[in-house]
Amino acid sequence: MAHDHDTDHDHDEHDHAHDHEHAEPELSEEEAAELERELVRRHALAQVRQYPDVALRMKAREVTEFDDDLAQLAERMKHLMADAQGVGLAANQIGLLQRIFVFEHGEEGTQSVVNPRIVDPSAETEVDSEGCLSLEGIRVPVERHVRLALEGLDPSGAELKLELEGMNARVVQHEVDHLDGVLIIDRTDDEHRKEALGLLRPQPVLR
Ligand SMILES: [Zn+2]
Repeated sequence: MAHDHDTDHDHDEHDHAHDHEHAEPELSEEEAAELERELVRRHALAQVRQYPDVALRMKAREVTEFDDDLAQLAERMKHLMADAQGVGLAANQIGLLQRIFVFEHGEEGTQSVVNPRIVDPSAETEVDSEGCLSLEGIRVPVERHVRLALEGLDPSGAELKLELEGMNARVVQHEVDHLDGVLIIDRTDDEHRKEALGLLRPQPVLR
């Protein structure tokens, strides 16, 4: 899942940074840091599968081996999510069909969840706008349960149970959807879906 602020003005920011690079070679420290973050973000995003990649539409399999490879995968996903300035990342998004995702859990830090199960979702729901690292530039309203319990395992195989609400609950519903091949464009209303699909359609190549 993408941060609130980072998708809407993607192209503007990029063009702007680009202009500065050429017109004003002497960047302030702040501008240089911002440009560096943007380059890191773009590099990370290049490693995230983008719609309509087929891996985003497949159901990931339960993890059965809790070995070093799994621990390393979780670490890699944490770094990639942070570099991409996201708040969640599921294995499908890097082309691996295993039921594992990472998410930003407030003060608890980044958490890795394996074989997640959503338990006792609240009847109360809330509609809010969501973005996705695999759907660059798209934000659509999505209805989610406000509270839930998340059960699963950590990468070492230890049991995990988290009581989540609000933004945290929203992010894990988004990530569990990824593991089932479901995207935010499937969860939004017809009008927003149509608009998003228009933006996602490959642009004609100019010759
Ligand atoms: Zn996503």
